[in-house]
Amino acid sequence: MESRTHGAYDAQDGCPVDLPARRSLTTEAVHAGREDLAELGLHAPPLDFSTTYPSYDSRDEAARIDAFAADGAEPDGPPVYGRLGNPTVARFETAIARLERTESAVAFASGMAALSAVLLARNTLGLRHVVAVRPLYGCSDHLLTAGLLGNEVTWTDPAGIAEALRPDTGLVMVESPANPTLAEVDLRAVAHACGSVPLLADNTFATPVLQRPAGLGARLVLHSATKYLGGHGDVMGGVVACDEEMARRLRQMRFATGAVLHPLAGYLLLRGLSTLPVRVRAASASAEELARRLAGDPRVAHVHYPRIGGAMIAFEVHGDPHAVIGGVRLITPAVSLGSVDTLIQHPASISHRIVDATDRRDAGVSDKLLRLSVGLEDVEDLWADLDGALEAERGPGHRLRQEVAGR
Ligand SMILES: *Cc1c(COP(=O)(O)O)cnc(C)c1O
Repeated sequence: MESRTHGAYDAQDGCPVDLPARRSLTTEAVHAGREDLAELGLHAPPLDFSTTYPSYDSRDEAARIDAFAADGAEPDGPPVYGRLGNPTVARFETAIARLERTESAVAFASGMAALSAVLLARNTLGLRHVVAVRPLYGCSDHLLTAGLLGNEVTWTDPAGIAEALRPDTGLVMVESPANPTLAEVDLRAVAHACGSVPLLADNTFATPVLQRPAGLGARLVLHSATKYLGGHGDVMGGVVACDEEMARRLRQMRFATGAVLHPLAGYLLLRGLSTLPVRVRAASASAEELARRLAGDPRVAHVHYPRIGGAMIAFEVHGDPHAVIGGVRLITPAVSLGSVDTLIQHPASISHRIVDATDRRDAGVSDKLLRLSVGLEDVEDLWADLDGALEAERGPGHRLRQEVAGR
């Protein structure tokens, strides 16, 4: 795994793409996808809401549509129609490809839309079998398990991947750190075990600031952009960073099924990327400190904090986890993660409710587990709130009595 303190791209990244300039991640975060702005006489990226694009040459339009249908390459010049592409969204795609160090990226309406497009693109090749490692995000697990898109899934641990592969295996899917337990897999070893089958790594929790899976052998890097990439809890999106060959199939699938990212969402996500490294590093520093305090707290049974760091903490309490959720005052009790403010949720009740209870527990998601997404508040204020919520857990009215006593 990569160091969490790197500022510049390092050689162990094994970067698959030859990029024009080797700039540090923090520089790319504020410049990638915006290189042409000064020449356009602009400072902020333009926001293009067009659903259609005029052309007086319909023979040329026909040729451009044929070219897209044939190979999924982005049309030269303006897009024909908003479902085919959008210049504002394209800026976000360029930027995320630069941050993940892949050739291309394709944006979708949500993380689940992005995953669906990947699965459909593989299914159309007759490769419907998926090998996956639990835990995954609850809805990803459900999409595979319920066979909603016609997939058959073999669940295994990382050591069992090679053996689980079949001639019709189209995808191997892992999350690291995984939602919600923060379990980590060795992406390089897993990619090796996949052989020629594409590995999809969900990098939502790590973000390219902490880990760039493409350099470790993942062919597809998926993000729920709704989380850290947007970073402010006000935009939904998904994106797959990959090689251009995969990207072409995904663009065609997006065009056919319609799960496009709205241009305003593309704008907000690009804006979010500019502060991604700063947000992730600051929140991670607080998370590390909170994880340390929780680990030493007698009210807490277990703390899971990833080796690569990050702003997510999972912990199990001795008492009632629902009382902790009910006891927070500064922290928001809500599903989702990756926002500037701190969120807490109970995976067995919310994010992973849709997963069968036995499968959920087998994957390490105990009924006592809480998932904390640490934001940018002062760490002492966060600790005071957590401490109060853990105290509230000790009995009804305890927190209230404390608050009254403190007046
Ligand atoms: C939230 C999430 C998703 C799904 O993304 P949406 O944007 O909600 O569709 C996928 N993977 C992980 C790890 C997530 O946390």
